Amino acid sequence: QAKENGRNLSQFFTREMNDEATERRALETALHQALEREEFVLHYQPIVDVQTGNLSSCEVLLRWHQPEYGNVYPDKFIPLAEDTGLIIPIGEWVLQKACREAMIWAKKTDTPPGVSVNMSSRQFQRINVVELVQNTLEMTGLPAERLTLEITESLLIVDDETVIEQLHKVRELGVGLSIDDFGTGYSSLSYLRRFPITTIKIDRSFILDLTSDSEAAAVVSAILSMAQSLNLKVVAEGVEKETQMEQLRKGGCEYIQGYYFSPPVPIEAFRLMVLKEGPMQPDE
Ligand code: C2E
Ligand code: MG
Ligand code: MG
Ligand code: MG
Repeated sequence: QAKENGRNLSQFFTREMNDEATERRALETALHQALEREEFVLHYQPIVDVQTGNLSSCEVLLRWHQPEYGNVYPDKFIPLAEDTGLIIPIGEWVLQKACREAMIWAKKTDTPPGVSVNMSSRQFQRINVVELVQNTLEMTGLPAERLTLEITESLLIVDDETVIEQLHKVRELGVGLSIDDFGTGYSSLSYLRRFPITTIKIDRSFILDLTSDSEAAAVVSAILSMAQSLNLKVVAEGVEKETQMEQLRKGGCEYIQGYYFSPPVPIEAFRLMVLKEGPMQPDE
């Protein structure tokens, strides 16, 4: 269904508009109005503790319901938001909304899940993320330990003192720092020591080939043993099959995220998962 909408959107644009620049401008105009028109919503995807099967935390994923074009996916509009600077107000909105929501869970269960928020490199380059995070935690009352920021390897190769300092200060607040899509960037393992990283998220592409390709399996087990010796948590992304889950569990991977347990879901559905006691069941 998601992909359907994506296709409709590009069909709309190719039919109605003659070039890419026109498409971009139309999307940009729409994006400028999206926040005030309240067209954004957050979806939540469970991150599950493999040993117990319990819901441990979740990743917040931004969705844009554009009335005219239907659902526009982040891969389409995040790059545009980054280029236009709109990622700053949008990123603020996402963080505040997610932290406010996570506070609600603490009133409903003794074991409220943590929350992971994707951060764009542009945010660290353009604003003081430490201030944003600190203000948001104060405003919402969320304990820092329940928040994790997901950053990409591309941020770590930017040799910028102010960025590095922000990462250290965010970590000093008690907030977790996760490397997203690990293994796809310009990996230099040295930055795992240089930066105050708490978690590695193994990219979906390695999980996809895990059970069929011995090289993907070797990469995953190397990441797992390295993470163990560096005392980092590991989340496997894009786990869709039981065989993948089993292989990861046996290899010592602690956390699983993917369609096997659940796709990202709207808030009402996620609140039900938060309330439910005991291990999560696979999504049918
Ligand atoms: P990401 O952070 O790596 O998020 C994981 C993506 O994988 C999500 O795509 C999720 O829906 C998808 N996914 C999860 N499990 C599975 C699975 O089992 N199989 C498959 N095939 N896919 C799975 P989504 O929601 O389309 O987001 C795409 C990217 O957009 C994200 O990648 C992230 O980089 C970016 N993004 C999303 N929300 C935000 C946001 O609030 N701020 C920023 N800066 N970027 C965001
Ligand atoms: Mg992410
Ligand atoms: Mg990822
Ligand atoms: Mg990604």
